[in-house]
Amino acid sequence: MNKPQILVVEDDVPVRNLITTTLKTHDYRYISAPTGETALMEASSHNPDVVFLDLGLPDMDGVEVIRRIRSWSNMPIIVISARSDDADKIEALDAGADDYLTKPFSVEELLARLRVTLRRLAILQEDNPSGASVFVNGKLRIDYAAGTAFLGEEELKLTPIEYKLLCLLARNTGKVLTHTYITQNIWGSSWKSDLASLRVFMAALRKKLEAEPGSPDYIQTRIGIGYRMVKVE
Ligand code: CA
Repeated sequence: MNKPQILVVEDDVPVRNLITTTLKTHDYRYISAPTGETALMEASSHNPDVVFLDLGLPDMDGVEVIRRIRSWSNMPIIVISARSDDADKIEALDAGADDYLTKPFSVEELLARLRVTLRRLAILQEDNPSGASVFVNGKLRIDYAAGTAFLGEEELKLTPIEYKLLCLLARNTGKVLTHTYITQNIWGSSWKSDLASLRVFMAALRKKLEAEPGSPDYIQTRIGIGYRMVKVE
């Protein structure tokens, strides 16, 4: 397999150098762009495997860059934001970003996010070429055609909403799904009451799915943002 190529969009030179040096020492190929306009140009001409995107760019809001890329490509986008404000991350995720890093971040964190994203890409390309009807992750197995889910040999006794929730997360393994995205998909709305319901259903689902619901293996919480199913080895 070719070395993955990463597009690094960041106007802050020290941060950009930190990222590109890290990528280089870990054997990734990279291209970099200091503005939104150059980012869009590089993204369309090189079709990179993953994009690291700073939200605060001099010429354009990073969220706008995501929207424009999403109009023609599903390439994974990991947002890098100095803003600790959750609203920005939620906006970026709802615009189609896959994950986010908050500045300051460690090199290990950056590499970990990149590995998760590349693994997700590999799953999408290999496991599900024609919309496979069975999903497998660790001991979890979902038979979409039969509408059943198993943990090892045991069938999970899920309510229709718990099952829908599980399938939504499974189909987006590796991607952070915001509360709004999930409630829109499950209930078709995103009222405050839906968010409260989501918490209740998620707790119920975890009780059935996770060996230790307090430290879940399958479904991670991103506090204030949403949930993500992770690939279990
Ligand atoms: Ca910036």
